[in-house]
Amino acid sequence: MSTQIPITYDNEFIQVTDHDIAGWRVDMPEGKRLPTLAGNCPFCQHSCTYPVAEEVLQGGTPSAGITNRPPQLTRLIICNCRSGHNRPGGITLGCGRCWLVLLTKSGASYDLSVQRDLGMLPAAEALVDAQATQNARVHGAAEKWIGGISAIYSLFSLAGVATAKNALDGLSSGQRWLVAAAMLSGVTAAGTALVLGYRAAYGWVRMVAIGDDEKLRQWHTNEGDYAARAARQLSWAIYAAFGSLAAITIMMMLVWFLPRAP
Ligand SMILES: [Zn+2]
Ligand SMILES: [Zn+2]
Repeated sequence: MSTQIPITYDNEFIQVTDHDIAGWRVDMPEGKRLPTLAGNCPFCQHSCTYPVAEEVLQGGTPSAGITNRPPQLTRLIICNCRSGHNRPGGITLGCGRCWLVLLTKSGASYDLSVQRDLGMLPAAEALVDAQATQNARVHGAAEKWIGGISAIYSLFSLAGVATAKNALDGLSSGQRWLVAAAMLSGVTAAGTALVLGYRAAYGWVRMVAIGDDEKLRQWHTNEGDYAARAARQLSWAIYAAFGSLAAITIMMMLVWFLPRAP
């Protein structure tokens, strides 16, 4: 047996050939629309498996889940072998090499080939990062949103001015409707301000489909637009907060100054 120098872990993109991935299997798991890939890493030759994900967590953009199996999809595969490669701390699998593949629908399954269009590489790389961090991100956003939800309930205290005992005594029903309209707009605007503010800060937590290459590109573009979108939401949140303050002030004025029947 020849002595081999063990391959040291290194995070790098490798250009592979169709020959390198010729031995890979494309399995269609029961009940899944997208396959699981299995084969040997073209670099370290150890065995890897890669379930192709359909969706990824994202804040912001509306999207429908995939209903049909997409005709073509690009994925960045990262070696996830279990052999030792002197990995740096925190990394438990693989030799660090990654390569780009293209899945093309063929009958009930997919054909696997090398993706030569490196234009898909940034989106595919971003997807890997997003998938690696999505559990932590949904956890963080959920913690923050719980604060937002309790803040929404605390909005009821704003209405206290008009709902206190005897606050509306002596007002005609037309005047009461006026107070109610001011209160409703104040609370609605305050709720809108809160939701928009939280959206800008922590995103609207949802899963988005990244099944085919078009969706993957779209998701990547949307991620890049985050700053512009969040800035817009934040400015609307501030307008809504001012609007709510104005409406609540009007409501208080009405309660204080509307002429009352003796
Ligand atoms: Zn390996
Ligand atoms: Zn490897």
